[in-house]
Amino acid sequence: MTFKELGLSEPILKAIKEQGYTEPTPIQAQSIPVILNRKDILAGAQTGTGKTAGFTLPVLELLTRAKPTKGKHKVKALILTPTRELAAQIGESVELYGKHLPFKSTVIFGGVKINPQLVKLRQGVDIVVATPGRLLDHISQKSIDLSSVDYLILDEADRMLDMGFINDIKKVLAILPKEKQTLLFSATYSEEIKKLSDRLLKSPALIEVARRNTSSETVKQAVYHVDKTRKRELLTHLINEGEWKQVLVFTRTKHGANRLTGQLNSDDITAAAIHGNKSQNARTKALDDFKKGEVRVLVATDIAARGIDIDYLPHVVNYELPNVSEDYVHRIGRTGRAGREGEAISLVCVDEHEYLENIEKLIKKDIPKVWLKGFKPDPSIKAEPINQGGGGRGRGGNSRNRPRNKPNGNGNGQRSSKPRGNR
Ligand code: AMP
Repeated sequence: MTFKELGLSEPILKAIKEQGYTEPTPIQAQSIPVILNRKDILAGAQTGTGKTAGFTLPVLELLTRAKPTKGKHKVKALILTPTRELAAQIGESVELYGKHLPFKSTVIFGGVKINPQLVKLRQGVDIVVATPGRLLDHISQKSIDLSSVDYLILDEADRMLDMGFINDIKKVLAILPKEKQTLLFSATYSEEIKKLSDRLLKSPALIEVARRNTSSETVKQAVYHVDKTRKRELLTHLINEGEWKQVLVFTRTKHGANRLTGQLNSDDITAAAIHGNKSQNARTKALDDFKKGEVRVLVATDIAARGIDIDYLPHVVNYELPNVSEDYVHRIGRTGRAGREGEAISLVCVDEHEYLENIEKLIKKDIPKVWLKGFKPDPSIKAEPINQGGGGRGRGGNSRNRPRNKPNGNGNGQRSSKPRGNR
């Protein structure tokens, strides 16, 4: 199967070729013809499957096929996504794949000044990529006209619901034209997603490429049993011994991310932290430095790392296991993308054994265990309750802290209902 056979036209094929893509990924092969056929879709696909191109390419194609409207560019396609990082990345993809087309696009998210967004919108755009909160600000200021939207894409819908965006999404939906094509992407299915899709989609085509809650086959997973107080030493050892050049490390809390970053830097391992308390500029800089190889370790909390797009990321380390098992799948999904090998190592202390059990139940397999010589845990140390980082939720995905509607299920009842803590 080639991109040409999927029905894409020359300017788009040229951009794809310039990206070096030789063939469509499974989600692209499935979604592109259906979207070009003007059908709604409900797609179960995680980040790393090529889903962004899976909806961006056919929407660009449909925009190309539509009759040109006279005058100013009007918003024809609206892409909603949960986090600033994802919005920025999708915005980049839209620009890349559409570089030989006349369409204008812009990205709208909170945490940055609104004025440049106002200017862009005033000039007229065809495609808007937005997080729900800031989009609502524009709607209430009447700085965006969504009355011509033909295509609505909800990306990472499960995470948007998880972050408490449902009411914002409903408000946006209320002002969109009734006649439109809607594409809903979600990594997991839950009752809430089902409700949303029932309300939104008209006889959708169902597309699923990766079974939910399975961890990627291309990721080599391992658990290193170690005492809590020796995790830093073990991490430094693994990075130095393995001569790792690029590693994404997850902590449970923002404070933990800052502390570990400082410790790694003092161990002469360049590191930067990325989490919800960092300004958008600081987050973008940390990610850029990491991508360029100027920083070896990026230390992240779950929400901040969601959707980070790094083409080849060989190592992911769970410095602390997530208390929400599903986040483990998201975390390790950062590596082993597009069929490449990746390694996901979890440093697990005695306090975290229950988390580990829940994760193994969720992914339905045992993760190989390693007791590294010199780092074996002291059997006399007893498990203690895990400090979740003190009260506030501090979600990193949006400038506003939104309450979650209710503990979110993943449809199979295995999601932990423990608090997520201050991430
Ligand atoms: P996504 O799941 O949209 O986050 O995409 C994951 C990664 O796959 C991105 O880095 C894309 O640039 C890359 N990608 C998307 N489509 C293809 C393709 N057909 N061939 C190779 N890489 C791709």
